Amino acid sequence: MEDLEQFAELIENSKKVVFFTGAGISTESGIPDFRSPGGLWEKNQPIDFSDFMASEEARRESWRRKFAMEVVLAGAVPNDGHNAITKLYNLGKVSAVITQNIDGLHQASGVAESDVIELHGNTTYAKCLDCGTRMSLAEVKQTFGKDETLPTCTSCGGIVKTGTISFGQPMPINEMIRAEKHAIECDLFVVVGSSLVVYPAADIPVRACQHGAELVILNREVTPLDPIATLTLNREIGETLHHVTNS
Ligand code: NAD
Ligand code: ZN
Repeated sequence: MEDLEQFAELIENSKKVVFFTGAGISTESGIPDFRSPGGLWEKNQPIDFSDFMASEEARRESWRRKFAMEVVLAGAVPNDGHNAITKLYNLGKVSAVITQNIDGLHQASGVAESDVIELHGNTTYAKCLDCGTRMSLAEVKQTFGKDETLPTCTSCGGIVKTGTISFGQPMPINEMIRAEKHAIECDLFVVVGSSLVVYPAADIPVRACQHGAELVILNREVTPLDPIATLTLNREIGETLHHVTNS
C-alpha cells in the first residue's frame, strides 16, 4: 500500500498534472486493448497505412472492422478510471488529458473536448486523405453496408478513411505540439494503461521527465519507461485511481 500512498502524495503536491492514457484504461469499459490476452491483435493484425493506401481489399477489411467495432464502442461508458481522472480535473489539478485512445470516453466522463488531446485521432467521422473533406460515418455505412463499395471523396474523388491514425500514418501535428507543450510544463505526468511501445507517442513521457516532471506509470505489466519513472504501479487501473482520488 506504500505505493498508493506515494501516488496520492505526488498528486497532492502537484499543481499541474497531465494524464497520458492508452487502451488499458478502457478495457474495464469492455473495449479490448491491443496486446493483452484476448486483445485485438490475437484476432486481427493491424492494417498498416501503406497497405490501406495500396490495396482495395485492405481498405474493405479496415471498414469491416470499423463497423464491427462500432457496436462495441456504442455500448461503452466511462469506468472508475476515467471518472477518477475527471474528479481531479474538476478540482483544477489536471491541465490536459493526452490519449492514444479513439473511443471518446474521457470526453464522455466530463473532461472538456478542448482539454483532451487525441494523438491517434477519433473514430466518430471519416475524412478524405487528399483534401481533408469530412464525411459522416452514416454516409459511408449506407454505401459500404450494401455491397462493400469503398467510399470516395465527393469533392475530389480521393480515398476516404476514418479519422483515426493507423500505424505508419503521419501523426497530427497540432496535437503533437500541444501534447509536448503540456508535458514540458507539467509537474506530474501520469501514464495510465499504455504499453509505451508505440512511437512517437511514447516519447512524450520522456519529454516530461527531461523537463523535471515526476513520472508515474500505472499499468498491469512493465513498460520500457519504468526505469525513468519516479513510481510504477503494476496494478489494476479502475480500483487504483478510485482509491487514490478518494484517500
Ligand atoms: P496497448 O494495448 O499496447 O497497451 C495497453 C496496456 O494496458 C497493456 O500493457 C496492458 O497490460 C494494460 N492494461 C490493460 N487493461 C488494464 C487494466 N485494467 N489495469 C491495468 N493495466 C491494464 O495499448 P496502447 O499503449 O494504448 O497502444 C496501442 C494503440 O492501441 C494505441 O495507439 C491506441 O490508439 C490503440 N487502441 C485504442 C483503443 C481505444 O480507443 N480504447 C483500443 C485498442 C487499441
Ligand atoms: Zn477530397
